[in-house]
Amino acid sequence: MRRAKIVSTIGPVTQDYEQIRKLIIAGMDVARLNRSHGDPDTHLKVYNNIRQAAAKLGRNTAVLVDLQGPKIRLGTFINGQKPVLAAGDIFTITIDNIQGNKDKVSTTFKKLPLDCKTGDLLLVDDGKVRLEVIEVTTTDVKTKVLVGGSVSDHKGLNLPGVAVSIPALTSKDESDLRWAIQTGADLIAMSFVRSPKDIDKAKQIMSEEGREIPIIAKIEKPQAIDCLEEIVKTFDGIMVARGDLAVECPLEQVPIIQRKCINLARQYAKPVIVATQMLESMTDNPIPTRAEINDCAVAVIEGTDATMTSGETSVGKYPIETIEVMSKISEYQTENGLDLIPKIRDFDWSGGGPIAYSAVRIAETIDAKCIAVFTTSGNTVNRISRMRTRIPIYALTSGEHAHRALSLTWGSWSYLSGEPDSMKDALHRADTTLKAANRVKDGDKIVIVFGSIFGKVGSTNSITVHEVGDSL
Ligand code: PGA
Ligand code: MN
Repeated sequence: MRRAKIVSTIGPVTQDYEQIRKLIIAGMDVARLNRSHGDPDTHLKVYNNIRQAAAKLGRNTAVLVDLQGPKIRLGTFINGQKPVLAAGDIFTITIDNIQGNKDKVSTTFKKLPLDCKTGDLLLVDDGKVRLEVIEVTTTDVKTKVLVGGSVSDHKGLNLPGVAVSIPALTSKDESDLRWAIQTGADLIAMSFVRSPKDIDKAKQIMSEEGREIPIIAKIEKPQAIDCLEEIVKTFDGIMVARGDLAVECPLEQVPIIQRKCINLARQYAKPVIVATQMLESMTDNPIPTRAEINDCAVAVIEGTDATMTSGETSVGKYPIETIEVMSKISEYQTENGLDLIPKIRDFDWSGGGPIAYSAVRIAETIDAKCIAVFTTSGNTVNRISRMRTRIPIYALTSGEHAHRALSLTWGSWSYLSGEPDSMKDALHRADTTLKAANRVKDGDKIVIVFGSIFGKVGSTNSITVHEVGDSL
C-alpha cells in the first residue's frame, strides 16, 4: 500500500479529461493548478475534468490551487528574441515599458530600483544567468553579467536575500484566491511566504468569501527559513519548494532545510510536500535517473506526506509514466522502510495530540485492522498520521472539503460517513462506511477515535476498540 501521497501539477499535456483520468488511475492524489500559468477559463475546464474523472472512478482527488505570489519576471524581447549574454557584458533591467534586446529589458516589478543596490546579485531563469548590480538609477538597474546564458520572454528573476517590498499576496493572487474559493478548491498554496503574518490577508479573503480551506506555505525564501517554526505553526501545511529555494539559498543547504521542514511539519501535525525536479529528467525520458529515484525515495523515507511533480506532468512527454514511476518508488519505501522514518520525540502535544498518539499505540499493540477517526476539520487525522504508523488510517468525514483536503495526509484515506449523534450510531457508521469501501469485514478488530460530545467540533477525547459487525 502506498502511504505517501502524490501531488501532480496539471498543464497543457494533462488538462484533458482523458489524461486526468489516467493520472488518477496512475496514482495522483492531489491535482495542482498552478496560477503562474494558464487563464481562469482553462483552469475552470481542468477543475471540472478533475471532479468528473474522480467521481467516475470513485476516487477522492483534491484540487490544490497554487498562487503565483510576488514572483518577479522579465518583460518581453523584440520579436521573441532570446539574446545570449556573455560574462562581462553589461545588461540593464528597466522599469520602462520597452521591448528588450541584448542590452536592456523591462521587468514586471516596478520597484526594482528601490529594492536593490550596487553589489546585489540578480538571478535569471532559476539562477542559470547571474548578474551583479553595478549601478542603480530611478528607472534602471545596470548589471554586469557574471555567468552568461540565454534570456527570453517572462523569465523569472530572483533577488536572493533581498527583502523585496512586494506583499506576499499580490492583487493577482487576491483575485486568484477568490476564484479558487468560488470554484471549489480544497487546498491553497501561497508562494514566497516570508513570515507567519503572510497568512492574514488570505484568511481575511477566505472569510469574506465564506469558506476557509487549508493554506500551505511554500518555503522558498531565506526569510522563511529564519522563522520556519512559526510559519509551520501558523499555516495548515508547508511545501519544500526546492525550485526557488535552491536559487534563493546556497544550494548545498537545501537537503537539510528539506529535512527540517519535514520534521517540523510532523512535530505540529501539518502535511508537508516535497516539490520540484523530483523526476525532472522524465520531462523528456521514459525512465528517471538513478539520482532522481533516490531523491524521491529519500523524501519518503524522511517522512514527507507527499511528493510532487511539476514540469514532468504539465509540459513533459511522459506525464502518466512519471506518476506511475513515482507511485512505485513511493510505495516500495513505505512497504519496506517504514522503520527508517525517524521517530520524533518533541511533538507538539496540544489538541487531540495525546489521544492520537494513544490510539496508534493501542492499534499497533493489538494489530488492529485500521484506525477509524471521526473528524470535522481533519486535525485529528493529521495528528494520527504524523506517527507514520503501518496501520491504515480511515477518516470518517461529513464535510466535502475536509474530506478531499485529507488526500494530502500520509497514510490516510477519507470516506464520507455523515455525522454520528451517539456512540451506537458512531460504531454503526464506522462499520457500514468501511465495509462499503471494502476496507474491513465482520469480525475485524479496529480502533475508533471520536469525540464523546457528538456534534461538537474539536472535542476528540475518546478511543474505543471495536469488533466490526458488533455495533447493533
Ligand atoms: P513554483 O514552486 O513551481 O510555483 O515555482 C515550486 C518551487 O519553487 O519549487
Ligand atoms: Mn517557486
